[in-house]
Amino acid sequence: MQLKIAKAIVEALASGYQLDSEAFEFLLQFNERVNAVELVMKAVQIKYYNNDKQTVLTKQDIEKALPPNLKETNSAHKEVKPIVIEHIESEYKIIKDPTDNIFPIEGLKGFQSLFINRFEKLMKIVKERPDSYQIRQISTLKKEASNSSQKIAGLVMNKKIGRAYVELAIDDMSDRIRTLALNEAVKKNAIKVCLDQLAIIDLQFSKRGTAIVKDVYSPDIPEHLPNRSKQEVYAVFTSDTHIGSNTFLFDAFNRFILWLNGKFGDDSIIRKVKYLIIGGDLVDGVGIYPNQEKELQEVDIHEQYKKLIQLIEQVPKHIKIFIIPGNHDPVRQALPQPVIPEKYADQLYHMENVIMLGNPIHLNLHGVNILVCHGRSLDDIVATTPGLTFSKPASAMKVLLKARHLAPIYGGRTPIAPEKEDHLVIEEVPDIFHTGHVHTVDIDTYRGTLMINSGTWQGQTSYQMNMGLTPTPGIVPIVNLATLEVTLKNFVMIK
Ligand code: FE
Ligand code: ZN
Repeated sequence: MQLKIAKAIVEALASGYQLDSEAFEFLLQFNERVNAVELVMKAVQIKYYNNDKQTVLTKQDIEKALPPNLKETNSAHKEVKPIVIEHIESEYKIIKDPTDNIFPIEGLKGFQSLFINRFEKLMKIVKERPDSYQIRQISTLKKEASNSSQKIAGLVMNKKIGRAYVELAIDDMSDRIRTLALNEAVKKNAIKVCLDQLAIIDLQFSKRGTAIVKDVYSPDIPEHLPNRSKQEVYAVFTSDTHIGSNTFLFDAFNRFILWLNGKFGDDSIIRKVKYLIIGGDLVDGVGIYPNQEKELQEVDIHEQYKKLIQLIEQVPKHIKIFIIPGNHDPVRQALPQPVIPEKYADQLYHMENVIMLGNPIHLNLHGVNILVCHGRSLDDIVATTPGLTFSKPASAMKVLLKARHLAPIYGGRTPIAPEKEDHLVIEEVPDIFHTGHVHTVDIDTYRGTLMINSGTWQGQTSYQMNMGLTPTPGIVPIVNLATLEVTLKNFVMIK
């Protein structure tokens, strides 16, 4: 029965129409007594001939299309068994949102204060290491040849990969020093360190006075047991809907909404889903890249948000939705990003179950620490770290966790704002680290932190095709917050 209705929905979608939840409910009660596909298509035709521009099919539209013998009696046949949603109290806290703490400082001064703050915040983290007492200021280093190492910690202001060496210039505010990694194993570690991140280096001076790197490490996160919810409750992670793009997978997304409503596929998890986290790139935007309009189905940014709102409205109200922006949304591109302005999405602001936030955010759900960031910097990490690919974004996420920074590389593809405070330092060790942006679902764990890249709802674009990028759309990671186990649900294929 569900299959036939699913087929009817797909047919309607193909004609540019979607059913609202009431219409769906209404359709269900007829069971085998009607041909769902015929009924829905008749409703579409009636709308079309009446010049009704609304693309949502309501219960009234379906009613109009009913054969006369069913018109009178339909209300007597209520056989739908409603899904029983388990009552679970919401338990969420927004720990950090950059929106109200954005204070850019113009010019060079801004970047100086940003980097000083970055250094200070990261040094605080490094001070927790048991060997931190050995760290000395660069200005106090003994520059004579010796067999014992000296330890420094500072920001990597320059990184040069030569044939026989890797050069790292380290600045700790007391001074700057040029260090060289020559040994193969040390070179390998030095290559993995990102530009502008904090690095800890053991070095020795050669007879000629060159600082030779003996070892190099990142601040890193400690091995830890993640926090878990006492109650079995689920959070759904998604991102990159790219509404307005002509490759947005409307039918797959609709199936996802139906599933959230307990009307598609199995309903064992859905009874306990309490949160939906959307990690940015809600719409495809306008003028994001040259000739984008050729790839857009909707060229007006306000219309793109209208379509998004129509979909978000159909998410059941007991599910709390957290929304952050990405680089396709109409907010400043430089990180950190404030919340999406009300003028684009005022209805989202008025939905009691939607919480609009900036990028990145740190939230706590039932005791579980969650760090959410759109993930644009993954581009820079993949581009500058040998061996990483866009098909395995979790490996790049691991680099960020090790660096304890969400966008270390300055001057790459990720614009970073000259802020008074560096909001991108990973100060708290997250239990779950969620990013999107690269459009590939990937799940992994690192030292106790669950890493999720939540993929996309956009099919392959011609740009991605030219770049050889294969997205994995329509796959949704769902996390049981009591165990941190992940279930992947694929909404692209009708089962
Ligand atoms: Fe995206
Ligand atoms: Zn993006």
